[in-house]
Amino acid sequence: MTEEQTMPEQTATEDQADDQAEQAPRAGELRIDHGTATGTFSLDGETHEVENNIWVLGDDERCVVFDAPHDVEAVRALIGERECIGILLTHAHDDHVRFAPELSAALEAPLLLNAADADVWELTHGDLPWDGDIEDGDVFTVAETDIEAIATPGHSPGSTCFLVPELGVLFSGDTLFQGGPGATGRSFSDRSVIEESIRERLFTLPEETIVHTGHGPDTTIGAEKHAAQGDWL
Ligand SMILES: [Zn+2]
Repeated sequence: MTEEQTMPEQTATEDQADDQAEQAPRAGELRIDHGTATGTFSLDGETHEVENNIWVLGDDERCVVFDAPHDVEAVRALIGERECIGILLTHAHDDHVRFAPELSAALEAPLLLNAADADVWELTHGDLPWDGDIEDGDVFTVAETDIEAIATPGHSPGSTCFLVPELGVLFSGDTLFQGGPGATGRSFSDRSVIEESIRERLFTLPEETIVHTGHGPDTTIGAEKHAAQGDWL
């Protein structure tokens, strides 16, 4: 994997931070665009119909998209004429990544994934590589706003949430839903690990943090924390 393939805004080093100063100023308002797409999720020999959320964060000129669910055209419609500077994958279940290489080619945007999900990715894409690794604590920048990667293993080993402090928003993938933790009944999942991830990494965020999930409605950190108390917390 080369430097050129990773998101140029990734600020892992001081050199890259210097590059950031040369970025164009924000074009218009920072905003989140939302859509849905329907398709299938397959694992352990079972296939289910699922509806996934599509989330796009950016301004009038640049954006990132979280996951690549089911429908390349639906994602492109949300992005419009804007430049997509990265596809940030929350995890490698096939309902989130099956069309990721196709979307990456269509948008000319790098595909970024936590390498702890390599075995899950391989189930769908074999030895086809993604473009860059996401690690816990990585900070990506789009439209002058930071996106912090938080490793939250459990639903899958490489499951990652993305926090946007400026907006008080968390993109949680399948780690935290309205109603509790994501599913852990299938291969590569672990209930005690997801509980620890949520307890240590998500429930420590401000309670008013809005959670945009991989499937279904939004929730907040506070609502899920209170619901968990006396249950599994
Ligand atoms: Zn999943």
